[in-house]
Amino acid sequence: MNHPLGFTGSTLDRADLLRLDLQRMAQMAGSAEARLLTLSGADPVLDEAGRLLWSPLREAERGSDLLFLGLEGDAPRFAPLPRLEPGQRAWSVFRLIAQMAPEEAAVWATARSLIEWHNRHGFCSNCGAGTIFFRAGWGRKCAACECEHYPRVDPVVIMLAKFGGKVLLARQPQYPAGRFSALAGFVEPGESIEEAVARELHEEAALKVSNIRYVASQPWPFPGSLMIGCIADAASDEVVLDTAELEAAIWVDRDEVRAALDGSPSAPFAAPPRFAIAHTLLLHWLDGR
Ligand SMILES: [Zn+2]
Repeated sequence: MNHPLGFTGSTLDRADLLRLDLQRMAQMAGSAEARLLTLSGADPVLDEAGRLLWSPLREAERGSDLLFLGLEGDAPRFAPLPRLEPGQRAWSVFRLIAQMAPEEAAVWATARSLIEWHNRHGFCSNCGAGTIFFRAGWGRKCAACECEHYPRVDPVVIMLAKFGGKVLLARQPQYPAGRFSALAGFVEPGESIEEAVARELHEEAALKVSNIRYVASQPWPFPGSLMIGCIADAASDEVVLDTAELEAAIWVDRDEVRAALDGSPSAPFAAPPRFAIAHTLLLHWLDGR
């Protein structure tokens, strides 16, 4: 992949082997090099250059549930674990992400996905009893049945269908005005990535596809998806749209995609943002792939 992918490239060493070492974790939280990610709810707080803000850990914060994000060199980096109101999601966060380098967004995305997961997993899915924080934030354990739970990642396929020098894009009703993006859907139990791509294109657009190729992937922290970018060849350009999920679809050629990615006012659609893998897939397709 010759193009940057959103939410990737974190420079932190996740140092998984330290997560279960409670003594080492307490030592690290107490060290002068320890830093805590500054958040507003679960949203990033940025400096003027669009970089994440970090602060030294205060005494009172050292004893609380801290998410161990990893090591920057030898310096431990933590995130707080705030309570989130159910359903709380401010669209304004996308304006902040647009200012961030992918590697900075990657660090925040890790924290955000973990925070959401902890907030949604206070109770054991096995027996219903309360769960407790463990593994420095990379798990929860049931206090009653001792079942261990780990942060989940949900695979989502997102794909461009190609036909006659054009690709298919669609829009959901809640998108900003003019925005079109690649079709996407969750991978279901019992299917491969390729089968999920073929099923989603058939369900959402009545397309038959072949030659499905994996292109690249990226995390998407809303709340914890892994976006798996693919390209496929469609057998025709006849689309029957699933209007329960999508309100419009368009086939666009390379000039139209180039105009949209350049932000040209004459473009027939508004491109997905730079940090979304749909944007990267379009760049990849423009390369002639
Ligand atoms: Zn349990």
